[in-house]
Amino acid sequence: MRILIISDIHANLTALETVLAHAQGQWDKIWCLGDLVGYGPDPNECVQLIQQFDHIALSGNHDWAVLGRLDVTTFNRDAQIAIEWTRKTITAETRAYLETLPSSITLEPFTLAHASPRQPVWEYILDSYTAAMNFSYFDTPYCLVGHTHVPVLFEEVDITQIVAHTPIYDVPIQLEKPRLIINPGSVGQPRDADPRAAYALLDTDAMTWEFRRVRYPISETQERMRKFDIPPRLIQRLEYGL
Ligand code: ZN
Repeated sequence: MRILIISDIHANLTALETVLAHAQGQWDKIWCLGDLVGYGPDPNECVQLIQQFDHIALSGNHDWAVLGRLDVTTFNRDAQIAIEWTRKTITAETRAYLETLPSSITLEPFTLAHASPRQPVWEYILDSYTAAMNFSYFDTPYCLVGHTHVPVLFEEVDITQIVAHTPIYDVPIQLEKPRLIINPGSVGQPRDADPRAAYALLDTDAMTWEFRRVRYPISETQERMRKFDIPPRLIQRLEYGL
């Protein structure tokens, strides 16, 4: 099975459509690692679009906040404003769909979690130390996470040595190492100083993983964000990938 791996769409329909077009014909099913909404201008449209495909989706901390499962005061002020706007904007159908999503799931030989296997909604795996702590919280060989908006592959060389590999794009890599934690990066709000939308392709027969990046018309998303009075900092950061 060829799987399109996406995460952290954050209601950026332009980025999502660009990713789907870029990977067209190269996948059979979508696995989405959460945060479909929050920050961006198109929460209903993104949820409607993903529902048109055979897919599995997780819920992330922004999805939880919109549903009222998290206290928004734990978010920064701009993110809170975006959450409030999203709450007012989503339809009953979008809400009902988000309500159904789990935050982690096991699909042998993969564990999927929005943030981390240890804390599926909250923890940021940004470094090898945090990755090392997390390898004992899943039983499968591989764990796929999102949440940080930074694409990376952590390899457990042995219990004391975790190596972080930065992605090489457009080159399928063989998943032969015993244990990995892999983050495809963010579709709708990259934070690795590269503003291009990030995603990955996973082939579960060949057991290959391929990191991908694609440019999308950022100004189109920004224009809609301005129209809806989403905070300027959230609008500007898209063009810097930060
Ligand atoms: Zn996110």
